[in-house]
Amino acid sequence: MQVRFWGTRGSIPKPGPTTIHYGGNTLCHELRTARGTLVIIDCGTGLHGLGLKLLSGGGHGLAGHILISHTHWDHIQGIPFFAPFFVPGNKWNFYGPKGLNQSLRETLAGQMQHTYFPITTDEFGASIRYHDLVEGTFEIDDIKVTTQYLNHPALTLGYRLEADGATVVYCCDHEPFSRDVAEGHREFFGLDQHHADFIQGADLLIHDAQYTAAEYPSKIGWGHSSTEFVVKLAQHADVKHVVLTHHDPLRTDGALDGIVEEVRDGLKANHWTVLVSAAAEGAMIEVKSSGILPSRSSRDEFRATASIKPALSHRSVLIKVADVKVATAIGEAVRAEGLRANFCSSVETARMVIAQDTPSLAIIDHAVADDDGKAILDVLQAVKGGELPVVMVATRVQEKEGVTDWLTTPFTDSYARTKIRAWVLRETCRFIRAPIPENEPARLTSLRALNILDTEPEERFDRITRVAAALFNVPMATITLLDENRQWFKSCQGTAGREDPRDASFCAHVVYNREPMVVVDALSDERFADNPLVLGGPRIRFYAGYPVTLDDGNCIGTLCLLDTRPHTFEESDLRQLRDLALIVTEQFQALKVEQA
Ligand SMILES: [Zn+2]
Ligand SMILES: [Zn+2]
Repeated sequence: MQVRFWGTRGSIPKPGPTTIHYGGNTLCHELRTARGTLVIIDCGTGLHGLGLKLLSGGGHGLAGHILISHTHWDHIQGIPFFAPFFVPGNKWNFYGPKGLNQSLRETLAGQMQHTYFPITTDEFGASIRYHDLVEGTFEIDDIKVTTQYLNHPALTLGYRLEADGATVVYCCDHEPFSRDVAEGHREFFGLDQHHADFIQGADLLIHDAQYTAAEYPSKIGWGHSSTEFVVKLAQHADVKHVVLTHHDPLRTDGALDGIVEEVRDGLKANHWTVLVSAAAEGAMIEVKSSGILPSRSSRDEFRATASIKPALSHRSVLIKVADVKVATAIGEAVRAEGLRANFCSSVETARMVIAQDTPSLAIIDHAVADDDGKAILDVLQAVKGGELPVVMVATRVQEKEGVTDWLTTPFTDSYARTKIRAWVLRETCRFIRAPIPENEPARLTSLRALNILDTEPEERFDRITRVAAALFNVPMATITLLDENRQWFKSCQGTAGREDPRDASFCAHVVYNREPMVVVDALSDERFADNPLVLGGPRIRFYAGYPVTLDDGNCIGTLCLLDTRPHTFEESDLRQLRDLALIVTEQFQALKVEQA
């Protein structure tokens, strides 16, 4: 992989005689794999120069992928001035963290409203697709991308990119979670160790290092790291080469030279092996293959691009904080994120809340944990098999069993909201909406030509679902037709409703893949664990669906089996389900002939 630096400055562009060497443009990076895949990471003012370079080759037929760490100004302000967006035929994909209330597209469009800029995002000539990300792993052509939330006062994702046998990790903007770790008083633990795991073994790490250790104490909570912390982190995580970036606007070339020199003296004194440099605009780094195969993290099984909307209305946060002011502030932050706040005054009320309404997150204070001993933490740990994230409010981050994260006081409203959002989103990514098939318009035309949607139940179809339910010993079986925004059941055995939103549909996955799908236990399947049809009625645990594909090649729906208990499903079962699905298909074909 090749990485070129087009912008290295944090916060605000700083051109001038004192920043000639390291550069004055805000953050932007160009990454290319050996196969030619183009990825742009962050879109500060450096993006303008990159756009001109891309256009110098004619500018037509350009395609690329743009990863946005977060939507603070210094990471997106180059977008309106990126000329390749205005060339018809160019294809760009935007990826960035998903907010709870606004999509990435809406946020990016915000800075191009007429008040700020003469052209809106609707007027881009290129075709642009937006992908809202949560934590997880996905693929961009030949690159495996893994995302992880960083610690910053805006919802921010770090990116780990693996291709050509090499790994590049990008972490901007990020501040250590624990002040003790940040200031070098303690070794890595908890979430700081989690962060180190994310960058482990990187061949190239590009990391926010806006401050020096001397400056850091007056900048706590601003969401940036010190040079000293980043170098130690890189050494700790076996990084080959770390590039310090997000240079402070006040940092001159001379000052940066001094910082790098001091760091390198420190490396020698400690016998550290990590290579350290400061990002310089225009510099290019060839990242060589380390010969190590991409890691297979446990997160491989689900994709980072997920729809979270349908599940969010179910989400609530349990709050047990004694200080009224702090509790009120947290409650407001929770509600501002569109979630429900459940206040508890005692361990008993917490138990009641948990019994009635599974929370997505618990926020408790340090005082509470001390007063009631381990009682409250024990109660919380019993929820979701110990998977419920618990954020503890305290003046300082410590090591404590059962605590997932810390909210240090005093905190700003946006900081609290970011933290809440990150934890709730981490949860909701255990649910994936099926993509829309490429031939969707033709598929819908074919389905609608049957004139069957919203018709009465018919014995010739009900007979099949009855047999299916009995044959496989499941309480529910349906003949599902996948309409534009819903799944509708021509026949349903054992279920009350006759339709569900398409977002939640299991069958939509079968229709998209045009292959049978078996989910042995939805609760332990990352694609469905948080699906509304799993969390709520009909509480699906087992699913087996076979596609119903008409003669014209369009897959209009499925024959599927459902149960509220997990099931195994053998090859022979699948063959029988196939036979029944083919009978369903024949009935639909017959319907076509009847109507012709
Ligand atoms: Zn920044
Ligand atoms: Zn920022």
